[in-house]
Amino acid sequence: MCKIDFLGAGLCKSGAEKHYVSFYPQGRMDLYAALAENRIPVTEKCVEIAESCDLCGLCDYQCYFVTEMKPSIVMQALKEHVSHHLNNGGAVVTEEKNGILDGLKEIVGDAWATSDRAVALTYAHDPCPVAEPRMPEYIIMPGSTVEISAVVKLLMKRNVPYAVRGNGSSVMGFVMSEGAVIDLGRMKTIDFDEKNWLVKVGPGVSAFDLQKAAVKRGFRVNAAEPAALVCANIMCSGIFSTFSASYGTAADNYIDAEFVGHDGGVFRLSDTSAPNLFAFKKEDSVIPGICTAAYIRLHPVTSDEGAALVPFESLERALHFAKECAMRRIGLAIGVLGGEYISAFLSPTKKLAVEVRNAFKDKLKIEYVVLVIGDKYALHSIKAMGYKYFDNRLIRTLNLGLPSLASAQWLDLIDELSGEERFSYLGLRHFHDLAEAALAPSPAQLVRDVDPELRPFYEKLYSRPEMTDPVWLSMFRIISSRMGREKHVLAMVVYLPIDNKLIAEIDREFRRIARGHGLKNDFGFITPLDDGKRCVFEYDYYLDHNDPVERMKTQQAMMEAGVMIERYSAETGTVTWIRDVFRQGFSRKESFLYSTVGAD
Ligand SMILES: Cc1cc2nc3c(=O)[nH]c(=O)nc-3n(C[C@H](O)[C@H](O)[C@H](O)COP(=O)(O)OP(=O)(O)OC[C@H]3O[C@@H](n4cnc5c(N)ncnc54)[C@H](O)[C@@H]3O)c2cc1C
Ligand code: SF4
Repeated sequence: MCKIDFLGAGLCKSGAEKHYVSFYPQGRMDLYAALAENRIPVTEKCVEIAESCDLCGLCDYQCYFVTEMKPSIVMQALKEHVSHHLNNGGAVVTEEKNGILDGLKEIVGDAWATSDRAVALTYAHDPCPVAEPRMPEYIIMPGSTVEISAVVKLLMKRNVPYAVRGNGSSVMGFVMSEGAVIDLGRMKTIDFDEKNWLVKVGPGVSAFDLQKAAVKRGFRVNAAEPAALVCANIMCSGIFSTFSASYGTAADNYIDAEFVGHDGGVFRLSDTSAPNLFAFKKEDSVIPGICTAAYIRLHPVTSDEGAALVPFESLERALHFAKECAMRRIGLAIGVLGGEYISAFLSPTKKLAVEVRNAFKDKLKIEYVVLVIGDKYALHSIKAMGYKYFDNRLIRTLNLGLPSLASAQWLDLIDELSGEERFSYLGLRHFHDLAEAALAPSPAQLVRDVDPELRPFYEKLYSRPEMTDPVWLSMFRIISSRMGREKHVLAMVVYLPIDNKLIAEIDREFRRIARGHGLKNDFGFITPLDDGKRCVFEYDYYLDHNDPVERMKTQQAMMEAGVMIERYSAETGTVTWIRDVFRQGFSRKESFLYSTVGAD
């Protein structure tokens, strides 16, 4: 997340200038760990990385938002380590030159290809429990399709294997190689073609930056994790978000794309001779080439959009409602969310997230919520269907008043106002005013447990309307990264019909497997797809990726979960595991949502 300016406070200056992940706070932390453990020597780039940090502290604001940590202490330690080394006359290792590196530099320019160990190290691992670290020989940051093509040709000629990297956040070991890593982070062009409702994006454009540019022009794109690069996200799994309920996923999100193939040749998907990436095969696949541009669909936005957060005491009822909305095409975004998600998303600290989770579950009896984003007609329809919900104003009140949620006063109020019908208090005429009186919502209250040094910044941040606007938050998704605040998240994602019995069984199986291995686990979310005929279901396992025992347990749990999904897939013919879609995200969703076996 440190590569995008998601809080509007500014980006790490040296990261934005030098682009290699090593110059961003994330890379600097890996580098310091490696130096402290004597895994690499002090190199030329290492000195440059350490010295280019001015200890501005911006990374503290950003990192605290997601992880509740303040990394500038590590930045300071990195500077001290390097300066101590230099002051004591320590050696500085230069990058090893050879014909391949010279050739790469000739193509992309001296600054954009390196074999410096300090840079390579920051591309050598990810937290995936089944991926071993791999130290690359070369890191290359091309600036154009022509350069990518020349780089691929050179690597092919010299038999150097390579991996293609977006932001590296797929965390499945896909972006590592002993040969070269091609980092696409410099290619950040965004070109709108409004009359054709599309925007052409370079492979270095993040979901957050694209959404920001689209919103500025009155459009919206279907974007998922904000730091994920758009081309990478399509390539990896296809983009799925709560907006996929109406905008679809995979091939629905783009109109065309440009690729550099494995032979270095350039093709467009609209070429009649292009490889058929719309098809899908249920097998492990490799990337079909490097996507150098995607022509992304733009969607209209109306000024009357709002949210309905509909509470439910059971998954069955929540699913019934979500399916009903999808079938009737009510709402643009639909997501059935579990308690863990909603409490972690809304709370600025772990402590508050736990309290909120308990208050939702034990006191308000809310087990699941369905979030629907739609225009005023969609929201009227939900009311007409007889559902009570938290609207924009109540969501803001709830968010800014979270610390008061568990208090006795609030509970008394709910008890007094609840009739026979569950959640009926939401339908009372003056409930908004009463909730405001009971929760005393304010940015100051919400951030009262935030680190005192950062609190004034956070108080200001939460005074901005978008920070509690469910429509903005659903589009930009900056709070979903908090799900990994306590532990690394391993998302188990399946596509299947919205069949209560099937979903309940698979949900139970995910839970049983995780519990069997002592792993923290929870329901993630479900979003209907294709008018509610199918859905995407995420169940999450959480692990401490630095703990070898927990890594091993997770590997076993993943294997068992895989066998379980395969079993349901074979038995029903309607369940598809996302693992099978990996690197086939340019395909038509119909190709992996529906089986045509037996259709003849
Ligand atoms: C906590 C968490 C939640 C997530 N939630 C969602 C979600 O709700 N919806 C969703 O859609 N995804 C989700 N993802 C998945 C993630 O966002 C995607 O995997 C995305 O690809 C990551 O983007 P990246 O830029 O980091 O890609 P990387 O990890 O860098 O790359 C992903 C894959 O794409 C390849 N690749 C990268 N760029 C290109 C290119 N230009 N051409 C060809 N191949 C390329 C890489 O080699 C790799 O195989 C989630 C991931 C995490 C960690
Ligand atoms: S403290 Fe250093 S690493 Fe952090 S944002 Fe500032 S310059 Fe970047």
